[in-house]
Amino acid sequence: MDADRNQPDAEAYKVFDEDRVQARIVAALDGVETLASYSRCCDACLERRVWVRKGGVKVELVQYYHRAVGCQIVTGLVKTFVALEWLKPGEGEDTAALRLLSKIPAQYGSRFFDIPLLDALYAQAPVFRLAAALGWDLVVSLKQNQRELYQSAIRLFARRAADGSATETRAGKHYQIQVWDTEGLPFSADYPQPVRVVRSEETLTQNHYRRGQLEPETSEHEWLWVTTLDRQTFPAMVVRRLGHDRWKLENNGWNGLTQNWGLKHGFLHACRHRPYHRDGVRVPVPNRGLPAVVLILLLAFTLTAAFVHCHSKLFRLRPSSVIEVAQQLRRSVSKLPLHIRDPDSPAESSI
Ligand SMILES: [Zn+2]
Repeated sequence: MDADRNQPDAEAYKVFDEDRVQARIVAALDGVETLASYSRCCDACLERRVWVRKGGVKVELVQYYHRAVGCQIVTGLVKTFVALEWLKPGEGEDTAALRLLSKIPAQYGSRFFDIPLLDALYAQAPVFRLAAALGWDLVVSLKQNQRELYQSAIRLFARRAADGSATETRAGKHYQIQVWDTEGLPFSADYPQPVRVVRSEETLTQNHYRRGQLEPETSEHEWLWVTTLDRQTFPAMVVRRLGHDRWKLENNGWNGLTQNWGLKHGFLHACRHRPYHRDGVRVPVPNRGLPAVVLILLLAFTLTAAFVHCHSKLFRLRPSSVIEVAQQLRRSVSKLPLHIRDPDSPAESSI
């Protein structure tokens, strides 16, 4: 990546080492949905009405589901999930996220991480107040839902040239980036403290196969973030990179858990997630299994990542994917002789 003199890039500053960004630990919050069903539900299920096609006719049904917000450390090789908060019936993801963030200081201490990366959904005054009280800096996606701040920033940036530009090539993708950066915009009427807004305009070029031919394709993207990070230590390009790290997390976190760990498998539907009827009234079963199973999955996910990145010689000698290491482990376990003694047979002298 090369950058102009006014706006050196993240690589030039060497701010992204393995464990920290400018000596700060970064975490990200993101939501995930599990166990959607039209028939089974428990006392903690969320509900929504959806239209589905049944026998060629569109009908409206009540769908039951669960949704949670997870907090995962982004910096470091082992992307540990440190907290998970389930949405309660009738509440929004922003409420659960605020509850999760409020619990962190008691569980880990407020300096367990320094910078939460948040979705636009969480760009709300209570989140900024909590972060200010705990000494966290925030990087939050800025979209139209924070209308006044969004429009003030867009109007301001439209009147002036970019504050910096850079190019970046990563994983077969070539980016041309222009960034705008301003401080001192009031966040909202109920939290008028000044915040900083960074805008990134990106032209992405990547090759795609079209009719058997590899052809370059170009697309335009715009991103905005509101942040409390200071400009000297965290230039606009570093804020941009942090903002994009939240998306990378989705692949390393919930997406990986969904694709490779059976996070959304309906195993709980097969047991005690079906409501029963008493005197004609539907009585939902208590929700006991789901939080426990997901917690065990998150622990296994973190321990496996720790084993692979910190212990596995195979991974160190020949970097491969975590899945490859898991397959090797499975193969080696399946070759082990069975030393399980039949309880009715006499004990073996040596095992
Ligand atoms: Zn349920």
